[in-house]
Amino acid sequence: SSTALKYKRVILKLSGESLADESGRGISGRESADIAAQIKQAHESGCQIAIVIGGGNILRGGQFSEDNMVVQEATAHYMGMMATVINSLSLQDAVEATGLQTRVMSAIPVDKVAETFIRRRAIRHLEKGRVVILAAGIGNPFVTTDTAAAQRALELDADVVLKATRVDGVYDSDPEKNPDAVLFESLSFSDIVQKKLRVMDATAIALCEEHAKPILVFNFKKDGNIVRAVSGETVGTWIGA
Ligand code: UDP
Repeated sequence: SSTALKYKRVILKLSGESLADESGRGISGRESADIAAQIKQAHESGCQIAIVIGGGNILRGGQFSEDNMVVQEATAHYMGMMATVINSLSLQDAVEATGLQTRVMSAIPVDKVAETFIRRRAIRHLEKGRVVILAAGIGNPFVTTDTAAAQRALELDADVVLKATRVDGVYDSDPEKNPDAVLFESLSFSDIVQKKLRVMDATAIALCEEHAKPILVFNFKKDGNIVRAVSGETVGTWIGA
């Protein structure tokens, strides 16, 4: 069937922009509800889901410090992490509105609003069927939430990193600019490095490569693709050893 369980546990990496409308900024209730409905569907297939949420709809540290010129880069990265906390709280309510139980766990303690990330506790939540929303990346500046997704996939022993994007997968050139861009069905980690493909940041790719953790890049805008991805259906671009 279309919802046969393939993965027991996944990390779902959502960009901050996935919560925004076409402007890419802020948080849209409608977009949040659409994603939450897909998460609910994926969870019903029996898969344990931990979500790493980005903050780019609010602030990306590198870009912000460059434009701002007063705020130090490290400070800006911490601001970016706080942006992911804001997104997490919003996503939490959207997912709970579907009837699922959730926990937000933050790499930076914000104990009035979320639990602090503790690996063994996160695993316990997942085993109990709660959707775990991971906030504040890895809690350190100068990386992105892509690295957090890879890091958490390793320590939570997820089967795969599901990288949600607006396009169908990894292409040989930017499909939003080049109509002739060709979609890859599968790639090796060394292909990504050799062809200089932009999939996730280099630290994330290096972590996944070193620990043979596969990545599936897929289009979350197509309704039902999240459940397809967790069910192991052919969707997007598969990146493995
Ligand atoms: N960030 C960080 N450490 C982390 C995760 C994120 O410093 O472990 C900062 C970084 O500045 C990043 C911002 O938070 O640009 C928002 O995350 P990201 O850019 O990954 O969001 P996305 O592009 O996925 O929306």
